[in-house]
Amino acid sequence: MKYDFLIVGAGLFGCTFSHLATKAGKSCLVIDKRDKPGGNLRCENIEGINVHKYGAHIFHTNDKEIWELVNSLVPFNRFTNSPIANYKGRLFNLPFNMNTFHQMWNVTTPSEATAKINSQRAEALERLNGREPVNLEEQALALVGRDIYETLIKEYTEKQWGRRCTELPPFIIKRLPLRLVYDNNYFSDNYQGIPIGGYNPLIEKLLEGAKCRMATDFFSEEFRQWRDLATTLVYTGPIDEYFGYRHGRLEWRTVEFKTRVEDVPNYQGNAVVNYTSRDFPFTRVIEHKHFESFGNTVYDNPHTVISEEYSTEFAPGMEPYYPVNDERNETLANDYRKLADEDKDVIFGGRLADYRYYDMAPVIRAAMEAFKKNNNIS
Ligand code: FAD
Ligand code: UDP
Repeated sequence: MKYDFLIVGAGLFGCTFSHLATKAGKSCLVIDKRDKPGGNLRCENIEGINVHKYGAHIFHTNDKEIWELVNSLVPFNRFTNSPIANYKGRLFNLPFNMNTFHQMWNVTTPSEATAKINSQRAEALERLNGREPVNLEEQALALVGRDIYETLIKEYTEKQWGRRCTELPPFIIKRLPLRLVYDNNYFSDNYQGIPIGGYNPLIEKLLEGAKCRMATDFFSEEFRQWRDLATTLVYTGPIDEYFGYRHGRLEWRTVEFKTRVEDVPNYQGNAVVNYTSRDFPFTRVIEHKHFESFGNTVYDNPHTVISEEYSTEFAPGMEPYYPVNDERNETLANDYRKLADEDKDVIFGGRLADYRYYDMAPVIRAAMEAFKKNNNIS
């Protein structure tokens, strides 16, 4: 049988594309080199807790159509991300809001907080003397001043990116929200939550009606003649690999997760705790049960599962997570994007093929647009 689509990669892009195509009466063969579908959304049940194996995933969006689509497939809970920062044992709420300013300076009103922030920024603005910040340190000092920079930004950012803040581009924290209200919600989107039961049921729903083959690498011999198998290829793997690395290899930043079961019902009282000092080698600790159980229901399970996140330089064989935002990689990615544009039989999509960091909702939107374009739907 010849399929309408061969979809390489059962991540969110591939699964969404498969869902839309199947609904439109098309046939899809979805393959993935991993042994389970879902890409980086995949959860693993450990001690009755859905563990986000490839990093904490919180669904958030302002896009009503996307929110309605995912909710039509699986129910979502009311999870709201409100991370805590731990700096040498002192705790602060994130993102920077009135709670943080109170914890930092003991101010209680927005006007007191504004006066304090302005006095903190003055030193940096004077040093800049009208010119634009040229690195992340200058940018952060000009935005929030020394106390917040040194307590909550500097050492965390250096652990995350493996480089000094004076060597990082300013844009990484340009949109750092400063809120003069008591609001610990990390995201500003209208819709937020986690699928009840984790992400695997969402993936299963999206793949309904498609033929799936896991533990199957597109670059193995049997797919050399993929045109005999399907009319159109949807490729969501790394773009440089597709073109045989002919211009060179794209670089990535990766994260290693050290996951363990703790024999306590409640380890840290919150899903996400950032460790913002360099005293701890990890950037943050995730306690997975808090994504799906709230209030005292966390005590229903006597165990908990936590993951420490270690930000690491990428080497072949590791999972590619974050594109590296520098000139060399952007130029290289553009060279590959040009090759992809010329290849009219193939739809390239998702974070690996686009070499872009995408949240989940934009990935679903991109898959919708790719499907519409392929079917000449406006
Ligand atoms: P992927 O999920 O990577 O899927 C690509 C698939 O292709 C993989 O399964 C891979 O095995 C397969 N593949 C690759 N090459 C081949 C091959 N040769 N043959 C067969 N299969 C192949 N987004 C949010 O909205 N909220 C969050 O809180 C959030 N947290 C994140 C945390 C981390 C640490 C990371 C890295 C990302 C996070 N994201 C978050 C983003 C989210 O993970 C992505 O939007 C989403 O996974 C993208 O889906 P995708 O299909 O493009 O890629
Ligand atoms: N950041 C920081 N301190 C924190 C959290 C974030 O300085 O406690 C900075 C850091 O430079 C990071 C950026 O903000 O690279 C974006 O962080 P976020 O957690 O929003 O992104 P993610 O790591 O999930 O991609």
